[in-house]
Amino acid sequence: MCTYKKAVTFSFDDGVESDKRLAELFNKYGLKCSFNLNSGKINGDDVWDCNGFVVKRPDPFDKSIYEGHEICAHGRLHLKPDELDEKELCEEFDEDVRALKKLFNTEICGAAYAFGVYSDKVVSHLKNIGIRFSRTVNSTYNFDIQTDLLRFDPTCSFADPKTFELAEQFLNNESETPQIFYIWGHSYEIDGYNMWDYMENLCKMLSGRDDILYATNSEVFRYFGLID
Ligand SMILES: [Zn+2]
Repeated sequence: MCTYKKAVTFSFDDGVESDKRLAELFNKYGLKCSFNLNSGKINGDDVWDCNGFVVKRPDPFDKSIYEGHEICAHGRLHLKPDELDEKELCEEFDEDVRALKKLFNTEICGAAYAFGVYSDKVVSHLKNIGIRFSRTVNSTYNFDIQTDLLRFDPTCSFADPKTFELAEQFLNNESETPQIFYIWGHSYEIDGYNMWDYMENLCKMLSGRDDILYATNSEVFRYFGLID
């Protein structure tokens, strides 16, 4: 029997330098995240701009920053999944899962779609290689249990104007059916939009409750019996 009726879980994409500070923040508040990484870009000199902030992949890459959290696939090279043929899907996902598994010495059972795009072909490919859940970028603005985990829609982005209102609703929710508050984002946006205080306030607000399970994506799905 499940003791918890509510769970909070995070999902952050791309594996960038700002993940270190974010992971430290999650650790401070006992929160858990699934980090969706691009294995082929881990040591890349991939640089881009987010509102004036220079986003970089960590160099050197320090996998220890992710300790205590979950590693999920996000495509080896962050290509648009719905534009790939079967061979390219293998290179993008099978190789990604293999590389992350080896690097982190852990099972990889989840993913997030790069650019939030997918197709039925992509979904069935991921299913065939043992991926149990994969996240889109479509906000549900609710906490309801979903059954199609390979098209899993998050509650909202951390930066959504509704996030704090949803957090309030979630904390006060006394539903007898399981509720998951699933928040996604990119850690570089926290730097780019100067949102570290905002993010810390959100973490503080959601943490420290004994009626809430704080766990990674796969732990939450497993706890509520959605995956084995
Ligand atoms: Zn991405």
